[in-house]
Amino acid sequence: MNFASPIFSAVSSRVRVAVRLRPRNAEEQAADADFADCVELQPELKRLKLRKNNWESDTFEFDEVLTEFSSQKRVYEVVAKPVVESVLEGYNGTVMAYGQTGTGKTFTLGRLGDEDTAARGIMVRAMEDILADITPETDTVSLSYLQLYMEMIQDLLDPVNDNIAIVEDPRTGDVSLPGATVVEVRDQKSFMDLLRIGEAHRVAANTKLNTESSRSHAILMVNVRRAVKGRSEMNVSMSAENGHSSSMMDSLRPPIVRKSKLVVVDLAGSERIDKSGSEGHTLEEAKSINLSLSSLGKCINALAESSAHVPVRDSKLTRLLKDSFGGTARTSLVVTIGPSPRHRGETTSTIMFGQRAMKVQNMVKLKEEFDYKSLCRRLDIELDKLIAENERQRKYFDDEIERITAEAQYRVAEAEKECKVSLENEKMKYHQEYLDSIKILEEKWKVHQQSPKKQIKEESTSNGDVQDLLQNEKMLRQSAEDESNDLKNQLSHWKKMEATATAEVVRLRRMLDTEASQKDKLEEEIAVLKSQLMQLSLDADETRMSLDTGDGPGKIFPGLDSLMSHSRNSQPREQSNGPKAPVAKLFEQVGLQKILSLLESEEPDVRVHAVKVVANLAAEEANQEKIVEAGGLTSLLMLLRSSEDETIRRVAAGAIANLAMNETNQDLIMAQGGVTLLSMTASDAEDPQTLRMVAGAIANLCGNDKLQTRLRGEGGIKALLGMVKCGHPDVLAQIARGIANFAKCESRAATQGNKVGRSLLVDDGALPWIVKNANNEAAPIRRHIELALCHLAQHEVNAKDIVSEGALWELVRISRDCSREDIRMLAYRTLTSSPTLQSEMRRLRIEC
Ligand code: ADP
Ligand code: MG
Repeated sequence: MNFASPIFSAVSSRVRVAVRLRPRNAEEQAADADFADCVELQPELKRLKLRKNNWESDTFEFDEVLTEFSSQKRVYEVVAKPVVESVLEGYNGTVMAYGQTGTGKTFTLGRLGDEDTAARGIMVRAMEDILADITPETDTVSLSYLQLYMEMIQDLLDPVNDNIAIVEDPRTGDVSLPGATVVEVRDQKSFMDLLRIGEAHRVAANTKLNTESSRSHAILMVNVRRAVKGRSEMNVSMSAENGHSSSMMDSLRPPIVRKSKLVVVDLAGSERIDKSGSEGHTLEEAKSINLSLSSLGKCINALAESSAHVPVRDSKLTRLLKDSFGGTARTSLVVTIGPSPRHRGETTSTIMFGQRAMKVQNMVKLKEEFDYKSLCRRLDIELDKLIAENERQRKYFDDEIERITAEAQYRVAEAEKECKVSLENEKMKYHQEYLDSIKILEEKWKVHQQSPKKQIKEESTSNGDVQDLLQNEKMLRQSAEDESNDLKNQLSHWKKMEATATAEVVRLRRMLDTEASQKDKLEEEIAVLKSQLMQLSLDADETRMSLDTGDGPGKIFPGLDSLMSHSRNSQPREQSNGPKAPVAKLFEQVGLQKILSLLESEEPDVRVHAVKVVANLAAEEANQEKIVEAGGLTSLLMLLRSSEDETIRRVAAGAIANLAMNETNQDLIMAQGGVTLLSMTASDAEDPQTLRMVAGAIANLCGNDKLQTRLRGEGGIKALLGMVKCGHPDVLAQIARGIANFAKCESRAATQGNKVGRSLLVDDGALPWIVKNANNEAAPIRRHIELALCHLAQHEVNAKDIVSEGALWELVRISRDCSREDIRMLAYRTLTSSPTLQSEMRRLRIEC
C-alpha cells in the first residue's frame, strides 16, 4: 500500500570502481614462488599495470586501487562509506563485488569479523554506520537477504521461499520483491544474527543443490525510512497556497519521509564455467548459471557505450540491479583480483569489466514522500482527542444549563413572592386612602347641608342654564351631523354621476375614434375613386363618340362627349371599344353602388366625375337595368332637382336620356316627376348641350304610346317647344325627333281607335314650328319634321289646322321632293286620302 507521492531531485553521478588485490595465499606462495605477480599496483596514482610479459604491460586507472595490504576499514571507507552516507541522505545505493572465485569478494563484503573486529566486511560496517545515524523513534531500517541462482530468487531468511517474483511498479519503474521476508533491524546484534542465518541457509541450499556458493549471487537489501526533520519547504509552499497558516493546517500537513535502499551484491564468480560439463553441469545449466552475469556484462557495455538499448530485462540480476547501473542509485563497484599469473586471463577480463563500469553514468535521485499513512494516524489520534474533549464540554454545558435553570426558577419564585407581598401592601394602602376620602366627603356633606339655601338656588339656576346650553349644543351637533350626512350622500351621488359621465365620455370618445377612422378610410377610398373616376372620364372623353356619329333611334349619348369636354378631342380614334374596358374595370373594382353613392358626394369635383361615369355606364344598354335597380335613376333625377352645377345637370340629363330609351325606365321617369324636372332643367339651362340632353330625354319619352297624355299633361310638349328658341341644330334635331315620336304614337292610337280629337301637338302649338322647319337644311331635323307632319296629316281631325297653318304646302313638297321614298310615299298617300286636304288642294289648284 503506497500513499506516498514522491518528490525527486536528481544529480549526475558516475559508477565508482575500485580494484582490490588479494594477497598471495599459501598455495600461490608455493606454486608461483618463481614468478612475479601478473599485476603491479600504483595506488598513489590509482593505477594498475597488467603485465603482458617481462617487457610489456597495460596500465589502467581506477577510482581507487587497493593493494593486498589494504585494511578492511580502508576498503569500506573508500568503496562503501560514500554510498552508505548517500543512503542515509535518502538516495538509493549499491555496493557490488565482481571478480573470479577466490579473489576475496565475500572477504570484502561479507566478513562478520567475529574473531577479529578489524576483519569486518562492508555489510557489517555499513549497518553499523546506518544504525548509528538513524533516530529509532522516527526512522526504521529493515532488510531482506536473497540468493539468485539459475534465475531463481531464494529467500535466505526463509529458504522455503525459493522462487520470489520481481514486481515492477508500472508508474515509477521501481522494482521490488513483495514475496521476500522483510525484517526490521533494531540493533547490530540482530543484524549479525540475520546475516548468520542467511549465510547458514546459503551453505545448506548450495549443499542441497550440489553446487558451490561461488555460482550464486547473494543480495542484501537494506531499506532505510527516515522522517525529514526541520525541513519546511513543502509546508511553506502549502500554507502559501492557502494564504494562511494555522494550527489546523499544521496538523493536516503530512510528514515527509525519505525512503532509500542499500543493495549489497556479492556476485557469483566471474570466471567462465567450463561448458564441457567437467564440473557436472549440463550445457543448459551452464548457460543458465552464466545468464545473469553475462547479462550484467552486456548491460554495462551498453551503458558504457551509451547504447540506445540496454538489455536490462534479459535476466533477473539485471532487473534487480536496474537502479544500480544507469539508474538513480549511487553505485560503487569493487573488482577483486588475484595476483597469480596463472589466472591472467580471468584477471584481465575482470579489469576490463571494471573499466567499462567506470563509464556508466547514473542519475542519483533523492526520494521523498508525503507520509499520508502517518498523517492519517496522527489525525485519527487528534480526532479521538477532540471527540473526548467534545464529550467533556457537552457534559459541562448540560450541567451548566441545569444549574442555570434551577437558579432561574428559584429567582422567579422569589420575585413572585415579593410581588405578592407588595401587591397586598398597595391594596391595603389604597383601601385606607379610600376610607379616608369617604370620611372627608361625609364631613364636607355635613358642612354643605348647613350652608344657606340661596346658594343652592343659584346653583340650581346655573344648573338649568348649563342644561339649556347642553341641549342647544346637542341640537347644533345633531344638525351638523345631519348636514354632514347629507353632504356625504350628495358626494357619493355626484361621485356616481361622475363615474357614469366618465364612462359615457370614454364610450363617446371610442365612438368618435371609430367614426374618425371610418372617415379616414372613406376619405382614402374617395381619393382612390376620384383618381379612378378622373381616369375613366378621360378615357370616356377620348373614346366615346367615335362609335356612332349618326343618330340612332333614340340614343342621345352620341353627343355626350361634347358635353363633358368642351374642348373636343380632335385626335383620331384608334380603338372602337375603348369605354368598355374602363367601365368593366370600374364595375369590378368599385361596384356600382359606390359610384352611385358618390353622386351625393360633398365635393363638386367628385360629383361631376361620378355623374360622368354613370352617364357612360348608362350609354351601355347592358348596364341600364342595373343602374336603375341600384337607384341610379332616382339619384340622377335628384341631381337634376338639386344640383346647382349645370355640368352635372347636363350630364345627368344625358344619362336620363339614355335610360329613357327603355320602356320600363320611361314609366319610372314619369312616375318620379321626371318630365317636370327635365322641364325645369331646360328653363334654367344656358348651354345648348344641356338642352340637347333634356330634349333627347323628352324625345325618348315621346315615343311611349301609354305615356302620351301624361307627358303632355306635365308640360313635356311645351318644354320641348320651349327649347326651340335656342336654335342650336343639335337641340332642334332632338325636338324634331320628339315631335316625330309623339306624332307617330298619336297616329297609331288614332288608327287603333284609342284616340279621338285633335292632336295634342297641334293643341300645344307645335304646328307653326313644324311648318317653319319642315324644310330645314339640316337633314336630321328635316326628316323628323317631315315624318311628324305626315303622321299629323293622316288624321282628318288635324287637317283643318294643317291647312290653316300653311302646312299643306310642305306636305306637297314632301310628296314631291323628299329623298326618302317611304316618307315621300307617306306624304302622297296622306294628301290623296284626306278629303279636307284634297278639297283645299283643288281649291288652290295644286296637284300631287
Ligand atoms: P571469493 O568470495 O571471491 O570467492 P573469498 O572471499 O572466499 O573469495 O576468499 C577466498 C580466500 O581468500 C579466503 O580464504 C579469504 O580469507 C582469503 N582472502 C581473500 N581476500 C583476502 C585478503 N584481502 N586478505 C587476506 N585474505 C584474503
Ligand atoms: Mg565468495
